[in-house]
Amino acid sequence: MHQNPIALIAGAGIRWFNVCVLYGSTPGTALRGHNKFIVSPMLTTVRGGRDVSLFSSRSVAVQVPYPVDRAYDYAVMDGLAGDVDVGTPGAYVEVPMGGRRVPGVVWGAAAGDVPENKVKMIVRAYDLPPMPEVHRRFIDWVARYTMAPRGAVLKMSLPVFDALDPSPPVTAYRLSEAGRAAFHAGGLPPARRRVAEILEAQFDRAFRPGVLAETAGCTPGVIRAMAEKALLVCEDVRPSAPCAAPRVSRDGPDLSPAQAQAASALCDAVDAGRFSVSLLDGVTGAGKTEVYFEAVARALKSGAQVLILLPEIALSNAFLDRFRARFGCAPCLWHSALTPAQRRDSWRGIACGQTRVVVGARSALFLPYPDLGLIIVDEEHDGAFKQEDGVRYHARDMAVVRGKLGDLPVALVSATPSLETMDNAWQGRYAHLKLPARHGTARLPQMHVVDMRKDKPGRQCFISPPLAEAVRACLDAGEQSLLFLNRRGYAPLTICRSCGHRIECPHCSAWLVEHRHGGAGRGNGNGNGEGRLHCHHCGYHMPIPEVCPSCGEADTLQACGPGIERITEEARELFPQARIEALASDLMEHPEKLRQALRRIREGETDIIVGTQIIAKGHHFPMLTCVGVVDADLGLSGGDLRAAERTWQLLHQVAGRAGREERAGHVYLQTFMPENRVIQALAAHDRDRFLEVELAEREAAWMPPYSRLVGLIVSGPDRKQAFDFALDLAKAAPQGEGVQVLGPAEAPLARLRSLYRFRLLVRADKTLNIQKALAAWLAGFKPPSKLRVQIDVDPQSFL
Ligand code: ADP
Ligand code: ZN
Repeated sequence: MHQNPIALIAGAGIRWFNVCVLYGSTPGTALRGHNKFIVSPMLTTVRGGRDVSLFSSRSVAVQVPYPVDRAYDYAVMDGLAGDVDVGTPGAYVEVPMGGRRVPGVVWGAAAGDVPENKVKMIVRAYDLPPMPEVHRRFIDWVARYTMAPRGAVLKMSLPVFDALDPSPPVTAYRLSEAGRAAFHAGGLPPARRRVAEILEAQFDRAFRPGVLAETAGCTPGVIRAMAEKALLVCEDVRPSAPCAAPRVSRDGPDLSPAQAQAASALCDAVDAGRFSVSLLDGVTGAGKTEVYFEAVARALKSGAQVLILLPEIALSNAFLDRFRARFGCAPCLWHSALTPAQRRDSWRGIACGQTRVVVGARSALFLPYPDLGLIIVDEEHDGAFKQEDGVRYHARDMAVVRGKLGDLPVALVSATPSLETMDNAWQGRYAHLKLPARHGTARLPQMHVVDMRKDKPGRQCFISPPLAEAVRACLDAGEQSLLFLNRRGYAPLTICRSCGHRIECPHCSAWLVEHRHGGAGRGNGNGNGEGRLHCHHCGYHMPIPEVCPSCGEADTLQACGPGIERITEEARELFPQARIEALASDLMEHPEKLRQALRRIREGETDIIVGTQIIAKGHHFPMLTCVGVVDADLGLSGGDLRAAERTWQLLHQVAGRAGREERAGHVYLQTFMPENRVIQALAAHDRDRFLEVELAEREAAWMPPYSRLVGLIVSGPDRKQAFDFALDLAKAAPQGEGVQVLGPAEAPLARLRSLYRFRLLVRADKTLNIQKALAAWLAGFKPPSKLRVQIDVDPQSFL
């Protein structure tokens, strides 16, 4: 038998293995290379010693959070890190890889396919509870289903490597005995007295100096001076987990009978502690949030962790206020706009199980909850739950998978459920909890269809006379109106009146959108988009040219069609006295500005809101009674599988903003197709009829939810090369019983960021293991280096 010196060194508790790792080599070679300096004294003792081959018996597979699909073998050294057994499946460890040290997770038994002397050694284990087994199975499942490398999915669970080590302590202050005495003797000047007052009121809490100064409204100098005078004592504290102790005993509002029934069904599901899916289905304003808060409280009471997924958390201040009012604390947040420190604290709080409630965007589903007991997916129909790059997953669907694997209840919540969910409810696979009416005296708004062929707006105008009149009446009554148009910027197209040339993005097959006022394009890094043309796909922008780039004539370029800037301009002309607030998603990059704008609206400082979909969801504005949908047809003509469904959902949500309290609401839908099914369904509040017809059409066309789709996008800088490759793929595609491959076809967005794009669409029977079929098919192809093939299982976008 061979001997392994490292094992004995380890046994002796010597930490020289770090040296091997630092040199980035396998333990064996590191020893050979460096034993003269470090290890040789040991080797002599080892040579004559026992035969211990810990290596082969103690290797494990470690998955690293990089886009690789398998876990690699690493050797375990005993006694690496105090309490944590490095070999435990799920242990968070650090391993050498490609000359660096990277974090990873012990995934299971070693594969044993690496020669023993090539196996590198785990550097250290992090002092954290292991990643739960159910979570690792979840990662495996998602990787298989989405056909993404497992390491890429793991990366979503391990997004901040810093979080693996405890956060550094921060300095905090509490009142000293001397400080307390001075305070009670009344001998402190005002600023110091305020500081002392805060600390005295929160007897057992230490405050960070910044927080303390801000709360007391004094300068940091005051705190420093008080510390120097020994009125305060300084200590090092570790930041505590966000949302550690929500109040669960606190009673919510009295529920209506329908609400109480739904709440008790959800609470029963929580009590059962088994996998189940419930659809909480109720019109906007029915009190769905109040209802599921009951289930949240119940789960928390039982000691479980709760996850609430929201589509756009950055916009959800009103929701957070309600959460705070009910549970007496802010929830732990998880979304893309967190600071690195917040991210770290949130992750640790969750992974260590101290944090009890998380309110997060889709990515929050991938955090390693040790005791998850309930998942709520609010606005389950929302497209934002689908991630469109990297690992392409749908968080609502994966939440159901997580519930199944973890044997826990999931609640999907919506006023406009997706067809997929509705079908599941109608088929009895999901429990269907209905809230048919709005809470209290609020009633659904009255719908008015404005036929734009008859009620024409003025030249170069977009607000029809009936809508203008309704807004005016609203102004006179001191109420608010909303003009909704889901299009940012001033005009979606710039056209030359002389030659008809349309200005297109040089990198994408898309028109450039004119922006007149301030910060426009996403990620353009140019805060001020004054009078520029922007590409909404790649961020390219340019000044509006003086002459037509095609025919060279001056003053012939004309803005075509409206964006919300243009509607704002028109509203200003029509209602010069009104206080107008324009809201587009550009504002999301300035959360404070957005908060201020929403506050002004809530507090009645705004008469007319002009907004994109940013304003459509979730908000509750008591004074808002009139909603005008400027272009209800927008989105209907896309030819996309879900065009009708999406438009209907969005417009229903927008309409749901009107008349949420005592005052009656009115909604005006401006359309050129008043007979269209979507418009008709909206006008009649006839949701189920609309969904039934949509479902019947999907069934007839063998489309989801009756079949499964997978999109393949081949893209590359050379059009012919990309097309030829796509064509080769198509020729070898599986065809036959239960599976069909359509294409290749030029993508609707045929060029994006200078890459040409072609699409294939796989359609398969839902009983077929489509991933397996795809893997077999694609295994025969290796795209040339400049080409990319993206796989999108259950695509939402067909662009
Ligand atoms: P949804 O989530 O269905 O749109 P919400 O939960 O936001 O509805 O409720 C709409 C409004 O009605 C909110 O202001 C909410 O606080 C209020 N509300 C709902 N149910 C009750 C209740 N049982 N008692 C008091 N207020 C309620
Ligand atoms: Zn572009």
